[in-house]
Amino acid sequence: MKALIIGGGIGGLSAAIALSRAGHAVTVIERDPNWSVYGVGIIQQANVVRAMEQLDVLDAFLDAACGFDAVEIYIPSGDRVARVPSPTLVPGKPANVGIGRRALQKVLGESARALGAEIRLGLTVEALDDDGAGVDVRFSDGSADRHDIVVGADGVYSQTRQMILPDAEKPEFTGQGVWRYNFPRPAGLDALHVYNGPIGVGLVPMSAEQIYLFATSAEPGNPHYARADLAATMRAKLANTAPQIQALAAQISDNDGVVYRPLEAMMVPGRRDGSCCWAMPSMRPRRIWGRARAWRSRMRSCWPRNWARAKARKPPSLPIATAATNAVAILSNSRWPSATARSAKGRRSIITRPPQRCSRSSPNPSDNQG
Ligand SMILES: Cc1cc2nc3c(=O)[nH]c(=O)nc-3n(C[C@H](O)[C@H](O)[C@H](O)COP(=O)(O)OP(=O)(O)OC[C@H]3O[C@@H](n4cnc5c(N)ncnc54)[C@H](O)[C@@H]3O)c2cc1C
Repeated sequence: MKALIIGGGIGGLSAAIALSRAGHAVTVIERDPNWSVYGVGIIQQANVVRAMEQLDVLDAFLDAACGFDAVEIYIPSGDRVARVPSPTLVPGKPANVGIGRRALQKVLGESARALGAEIRLGLTVEALDDDGAGVDVRFSDGSADRHDIVVGADGVYSQTRQMILPDAEKPEFTGQGVWRYNFPRPAGLDALHVYNGPIGVGLVPMSAEQIYLFATSAEPGNPHYARADLAATMRAKLANTAPQIQALAAQISDNDGVVYRPLEAMMVPGRRDGSCCWAMPSMRPRRIWGRARAWRSRMRSCWPRNWARAKARKPPSLPIATAATNAVAILSNSRWPSATARSAKGRRSIITRPPQRCSRSSPNPSDNQG
């Protein structure tokens, strides 16, 4: 099968890895010619660690990340009130990780390329014509091609979604924004630290050397902040937080190091089986169109609780789809090694490799730089 993936972010690259492993010819097109990613980190919880194992990139992922197995809760005085262990979903591996977004893109991009995926930068789609058997695609450079499947992985403001479903819902501002900044990692910080208070704050280890701080603030009216004011504004947002956070806030001086993003959410309506819904704040919606619709509603009911049930059913052909999960779903009906074989391999890797928590330096700390 010839697959086109629109968007070279986390979703698109994960889909590229999954489809390539399944033996399909994959092309990823990315609009940004510089393929730039902002320099703070991202928390990847246990389900992501498991997904990385399913994609068979777990060792490279953990080598670039900082694993941790607990969440510590702090009250506004700065006192720790709980340390909550996090169960792992991959035996012998960390429950959660923090990782620099650039490091994550590097792992996923290199893995996709190593599996044969072609990644073309500075390119997008002008038109899609799905005749049911395939999709004719016209690209922004004037070229055209036909693909068996097109995956829209182009972010929360997906152009693909807009082209296929012009009347679909749009993301809406939630009233909150998130501020992030990198710091050297304090000695002993070996868990996600969560601070309750006037605004929610977290400290996330993302390498042996670095953490990032995130702060979720109310942002009525969705204000625009000038870059020249970002450091001062972030310091002000953290003014009434716990003493440890205020001490860090005093070090925020680089406007270019501050990453601020409004939080947007989108509800995807549809039948639910009562176990969970399919809405992810600030995350790209996941949809399958056309003949895959019935299968989608089965899949939507809950990942991964209904995964085994949905997996047992053969998905229809998917001319146009979005999301890595869909690609993984295709893969489950493909020539990829069986789950048993994969877990056997996983067990071997557990025996031969130490658990990859970040007690040691990541191989290239600069990949985690802000
Ligand atoms: C403040 C904030 C904090 C977050 N923290 C976390 C966290 O801690 N943990 C977590 O798991 N998630 C977190 N998320 C969510 C996470 O960032 C997203 O789920 C994730 O980035 C979605 O990946 P994606 O590949 O779907 O989209 P994106 O990351 O948006 O990637 C889309 C890609 O497609 C490209 N593109 C866009 N349009 C086109 C086009 N027309 N043609 C070609 N290419 C195109 C873009 O340039 C980009 O490279 C956070 C989000 C926000 C806003």
